[in-house]
Amino acid sequence: MSGRGGWCYPPSMAIKTHTTKKTVVQESTHTLVVCDGCGAESDDGRWNPQNFEHDSVKLSLRHKTYYPEGGGFRGITFDCCPKCFREKVQPAIEALGFKTREIDSDY
Ligand SMILES: [Zn+2]
Repeated sequence: MSGRGGWCYPPSMAIKTHTTKKTVVQESTHTLVVCDGCGAESDDGRWNPQNFEHDSVKLSLRHKTYYPEGGGFRGITFDCCPKCFREKVQPAIEALGFKTREIDSDY
């Protein structure tokens, strides 16, 4: 018998140590944006998302206030997917006499 003068556990009572692994899951909030024209859904207004790309549609009127103590804005907007923008909105606003133009930017 070994362990003379000390503790001797049978194999079934051997002390086991545990390693606890903590995983922090970052909570994120997403807003479902639904196209008013066709009902298509997007995550936070990011349409047709791919790895490093997505489409967005922004057309709104905003009245902004920016006083030293704070500000804000109010206005009019709508939710629209890129397909409805190209097939419905763009032709409609061009029919009203507005000229649309292509925009391009790299950064
Ligand atoms: Zn749509």
